[in-house]
Amino acid sequence: MSTEERPKKLDLNRNDMPRQPPEIRRHNFSEVALGYTKELAVTEANRCMKCKKPKCVTGCPVEIDIPGFISHVSNGDFASGIKKLKEKNCLPAVCGRVCPQESQCESQCILKNKEAEVAIGRIERFLADWEAAEGVVDIPARPKSTGKKIAIVGSGPAGITVAGDLILLGHEVTIFEALHKAGGVLTYGIPEFRLPKRIVAREVDYVRKLGVDVVTDFVVGKTRTVDELLEEYDAMFIGTGAGLPWFMNIPGENLNGVYSANEYLTRMNLMQGYKFPGSSTPIKKHARVAVVGGGNVAMDSARTALRMGAKEVHIIYRRSMKELPARLEEVENAEEEGVIFSVLTLPLRYSGDENGWLRQIECLKMELGEPDASGRRSPVEVPGSNFIAEFDALVCAIGNSPNPLIPSTTAGLEVTKRGTLVADPETGKTTRDRIWAGGDIVTGAATVILAMGAGRKAARSIHAYLS
Ligand code: SF4
Repeated sequence: MSTEERPKKLDLNRNDMPRQPPEIRRHNFSEVALGYTKELAVTEANRCMKCKKPKCVTGCPVEIDIPGFISHVSNGDFASGIKKLKEKNCLPAVCGRVCPQESQCESQCILKNKEAEVAIGRIERFLADWEAAEGVVDIPARPKSTGKKIAIVGSGPAGITVAGDLILLGHEVTIFEALHKAGGVLTYGIPEFRLPKRIVAREVDYVRKLGVDVVTDFVVGKTRTVDELLEEYDAMFIGTGAGLPWFMNIPGENLNGVYSANEYLTRMNLMQGYKFPGSSTPIKKHARVAVVGGGNVAMDSARTALRMGAKEVHIIYRRSMKELPARLEEVENAEEEGVIFSVLTLPLRYSGDENGWLRQIECLKMELGEPDASGRRSPVEVPGSNFIAEFDALVCAIGNSPNPLIPSTTAGLEVTKRGTLVADPETGKTTRDRIWAGGDIVTGAATVILAMGAGRKAARSIHAYLS
């Protein structure tokens, strides 16, 4: 296992964001990154060249006027900065925290290969938090109603974006959420220490104040079907994400102590299991936890397990550190907090004790072979390298596919072999009349900002259709 082969973050000239020290934060669920002060935000904004043809904007799926909002920060006019930002993004505090800016807007910044890209995400987050701290959230006036009604299924980033865009175009918008709290994956999937739930609630509240009706505890496909809703609504957007966890289909996955990341994180985030008995959802404490997978969900699960008091937490990943799909920042956070990376390792089977609790994992060592279809070097088994490791919990974080409830209860909605909905990539239009879709239910598990980008395109297409 080595961290040397990973590319290091080019961060020399950027203004760093204060964070909780690792030895403290690994014992609490409070937010790790503490955000820019006014001074840091202005200093970082002053690094931006305010390019006439800003390349950063081409890397933003929701086309935010980046030099526009950064110019206002340079001038110390934060009220105008947040207004400019919200013209294109109704979730700035969320995006400033969890968007992979390093592979989106910041990757295109002209300063990237000179002195280091402008920290666009950190400035975005600062503005959103500044507005909340000031307590004067600017709510745009709602235009005259068109009388058209749109049902949005799912209150995650795609659904919220569509809702925010369509309400400001004069339509009547209702979001239907299956869980008891809105926010989708932002609420049940991302831990408090990375995205505090009050931030999600604040941004959902903003969309409500715009005039969007948010109905919770409503499972479309069960409470009412898509076709029943379409009798009442002129159009529908489906943004229910990808919440059906994958397992490896290896022996022992039904043992106690083996969780899907989806269950583990939902218990901790949505149900606040870490506050038990203050909350009603218990979660067992484990001493040695293995997390299988290398994405952000795996990092979130591993860091959550540490905070729950695990003595040792391993990420088990079949490729090397270089191929880890998680954000570099999250990998670094996990390493600093003490997560152990057992890379080039593949679990083969799990075995338990007489009471059915996980006790051991048999693994196999891997090496890297030729690049596969994804362009990453594929892992190849090292024959005879089997070994046994002792763990009392395992979190499987290898991916999710969409829940099949809506396609299985709606005739004419075409799905791919992976269970994702077929939709036009430019408009989000599905194979059914008056139904659009976007986000993870179309692409498979991806990022918040890509889901928002898909939502924006669908909103444009729905508006064109209704007009
Ligand atoms: S490309 Fe970089 S320097 Fe230019 S406007 Fe965008 S953030 Fe500023």
